[in-house]
Amino acid sequence: MFYRKGIRGNSLPPMTLCLTFDDGPGRTWDEGDPDPREEESRKIGPGPHTLLIAEYLKNQGIRATFFFLGRHAAQYPDILVKVKESGHLIGNHTFGHPHLPDLLARKGAPYEELLTTDAIIKPWVDGRITFFRSPYSDWTPELYMALNNTLALSMNHIGPIDWDIDGTDWLSWQNWCITHDPDAPKKCADNYLKAIRKAGNRGIILMHDSIGDRENTREGNQTFQMLQILIPRLKQMHYHFVRLDEIPVIVSRMNDPFRFALKASNSKYIYLQDGGGGKIMVDSPQVGPGELLGIEDLGFDKAALRAPNGRFFSPGNGGGDAVLADAADVHEGETLDLVTFDQTHVAFRTAMGNWLTWTRTADGDQLVASAFPFGPPEEGVFAVEVRECRQPVTRELLMFMQDLVERIGSWRNRNKARE
Ligand SMILES: [Zn+2]
Repeated sequence: MFYRKGIRGNSLPPMTLCLTFDDGPGRTWDEGDPDPREEESRKIGPGPHTLLIAEYLKNQGIRATFFFLGRHAAQYPDILVKVKESGHLIGNHTFGHPHLPDLLARKGAPYEELLTTDAIIKPWVDGRITFFRSPYSDWTPELYMALNNTLALSMNHIGPIDWDIDGTDWLSWQNWCITHDPDAPKKCADNYLKAIRKAGNRGIILMHDSIGDRENTREGNQTFQMLQILIPRLKQMHYHFVRLDEIPVIVSRMNDPFRFALKASNSKYIYLQDGGGGKIMVDSPQVGPGELLGIEDLGFDKAALRAPNGRFFSPGNGGGDAVLADAADVHEGETLDLVTFDQTHVAFRTAMGNWLTWTRTADGDQLVASAFPFGPPEEGVFAVEVRECRQPVTRELLMFMQDLVERIGSWRNRNKARE
């Protein structure tokens, strides 16, 4: 589905980078292999080198993501085959690179820009989900609604994917067309190094293997030459690289068929500061992105709660202490018994037999795991409000809720047997 806010890479650990390339594919024909479509650009400048970039990165052990334009992808199907074979992801960047909010305002059909491109790239998209990046990073509440209302899009896409690091390569190539500066690739690599440091040494990097709206910039494109300077320097500095679908927040959204908020007995919602990077408070009067949770069904009546940053809820010492969303993986400490009271209320019991609840602190009401002897009193019961759901999973969601009701029964029976 599409989200209200663009997805960025700030959930990545330090020294971790994710390469993305926009506006391709493009090709500069080799000598001896003339093509009338490219003859002029070959004479004028270096031009785009999607295939060489894909192969170079593969040899460097790096898997990137290419957000292709439908109109370019239709020209070079052979490039799509090889980009996928090299282990890279292919994403959707619209057909013609328009300003989508303007298109919508003019009563146009932004969803057709995505659907047409999907039809072209789909054979080379890895798995069920297609990642989407909006041209110019344009995103509005109206566009968010319009794309989610198109079922064929919302159920198969995750987006918009934004970026954390931009070294404005396109501007370097635009300037090169005037200056023909032989040092342009090196200077551009320096810009990226600066931008990487500025972003805290981690995140999604924006680059362009072609260009969507300026022919002359396309002809000056030296992203391939720039990468051959930048990548060895980054490796020397011990950066490492992940593919887009390895970023925790994206893994979380790919795995969660639905996201929900939990309302506590103080009538406030559980709120994850910084997406889960701080204390978990129970103080939010309304539901926004900071309140939305994912769930991992572990089977055997057990689940783990997932924060928007992709990390799991982990009760300190199993009980008595604050609950933080700081676990990268699910072990015993993150495993919660899921206990349902009715179709909208649940309680969570830790492996130590404590219950998730809230307690009043100097900073406000905070989520803790506390020891109630037999079952949770009212403070340990949360109302579940499902807020985001991939449409075709609605039935699955209902089955999940029914399953929860059945679990209550078995939980109650088990406890009766113990008494
Ligand atoms: Zn673009």
